[in-house]
Amino acid sequence: MAHDPIETMRKQIDEINLEILALINKRAALVQDLGKEKLKQGINRFDPEREREMLNLLVENNNGPFTDNTIRHLFKQIFQASLDLQKDDNKKVLLVSRKKQPEDTVLTIKGVVFGGGEPLLIAGPCSVESYEQVRAVAENHVKRGLRVLRGGAFKPRTSPYDFQGLGEEGLQILKRIGDEFNLVTISEIVTPADLEMATKYIDVIQIGARNMQNFELLKAVGRLNHPVLLKRGLSATIEEFIYAAEYILSEGNTQVMLCERGIRTYEKATRNTLDISAVPLLKQETHLPVFVDVTHSTGRRDLLLPTAKAGLAVGADGVMLEVHPDPDVALSDAKQQVNIPQFNEIVDQLLASGLYKEAKIAVER
Ligand code: PEP
Ligand code: MN
Repeated sequence: MAHDPIETMRKQIDEINLEILALINKRAALVQDLGKEKLKQGINRFDPEREREMLNLLVENNNGPFTDNTIRHLFKQIFQASLDLQKDDNKKVLLVSRKKQPEDTVLTIKGVVFGGGEPLLIAGPCSVESYEQVRAVAENHVKRGLRVLRGGAFKPRTSPYDFQGLGEEGLQILKRIGDEFNLVTISEIVTPADLEMATKYIDVIQIGARNMQNFELLKAVGRLNHPVLLKRGLSATIEEFIYAAEYILSEGNTQVMLCERGIRTYEKATRNTLDISAVPLLKQETHLPVFVDVTHSTGRRDLLLPTAKAGLAVGADGVMLEVHPDPDVALSDAKQQVNIPQFNEIVDQLLASGLYKEAKIAVER
């Protein structure tokens, strides 16, 4: 049979393709090693001057038939792909990532299991206002089989003239009630200086949305041996949220939980826009428990139940919501807190939906 020149050339092209493939992968492996070395030396991955040098060298040696512009374009693609590879490498090593730890982080606090498969309700007033106010909520918790009580003592308010919280006295109230009713207590701390003090009174330290990128605060809670609930920043991307959690773990504290609480968008119908897809994404990307705050995300009582259901349906480890014995006179978030009967109706509806179960362990008193 006559020798087909097309077949011969195609064979040669296949061989060259394989050579190019081997070479670009060899190059990629080298770039990966270079990236690790740069990380060790604290040098920035992307070096535009170096990229310029490489492109110049290629163009100087380009004898065609490709034009210089085509060569630049092709090699820039290779450079970018290699940089992306370094980025993936850095991600792979994140302590919060599933790649690092495939199994879920489960925290057991006062016998209450966070992230263990059975969703929890974290509820309580926006602010701790008095012993009696928190006690009324706690008594209802016990009746409804709830185990986790929230309440703000240090309130990061938009206006400096608004109620700023009771401070340490508020944490003392939470401690007293937490002990009396055997409830896990959660409260926000806003400065590293208060952390040591706070660990004496509360079971979980909350880092609020406004402090999600307060890196000194993140590092300081990272040095504690105490559970932390980290809320997503007002305008934080999921990547920024994950890195904020990484700050805490990188200092040694592995007892970290995440809370999606809505982000700022152009939408005005709700206080924030609840990013429901953040829940399964965070569950996929990290091994940390993930909660959904339906109060601060929606800012609307009529949306608490449907968004709570949505959160649980997409795999949240629990829901946070605010309940106050008399929301009309609440010192913060009066508009969006529910009263105790309204709260109980939400609990009933969640139980009826099958997405949430009454606590199995009776609350010991
Ligand atoms: C809160 O939970 O009390 C609070 C202020 O929420 P965020 O930080 O999400 O706004
Ligand atoms: Mn609030």
